[in-house]
Amino acid sequence: MTLFPGGAPCPCGRKGCFEQYVSGTALRRRIEEAGLPYKPEELFTAEDPKAKQVIKEFTYDLAVVISSLQAAFDMEVVVIGGGVSEAADYWFDDLQEQLKPMLLNPIDVKVAELKNEAGMYGAAQLVL
Ligand SMILES: [Zn+2]
Repeated sequence: MTLFPGGAPCPCGRKGCFEQYVSGTALRRRIEEAGLPYKPEELFTAEDPKAKQVIKEFTYDLAVVISSLQAAFDMEVVVIGGGVSEAADYWFDDLQEQLKPMLLNPIDVKVAELKNEAGMYGAAQLVL
């Protein structure tokens, strides 16, 4: 799904897809574009205002994605996995704060217990 029409190129062939803005890969790109010297795992503990701005933009875009998905699917729960979920302790409260005014009604947002391995376990379970 598109977050920013005409935005960052995506391997799917389109531009501006969610994946290009709210994933671990996207976070690495955002760090590079901001000219910051950090690895993604270092970004969250940096006392650099530019680092905090990158995190703020990331959580804002993630909130837009979740609220858009809610409008389409009216889900009750969102579970966030993938690489960025490993650092959720640093951005989850900010996400909740930004998400709250965007929601049609309250939903439960959680971090996947299996974090970055959630997708792998889910795929394996489908095969089994
Ligand atoms: Zn795409």
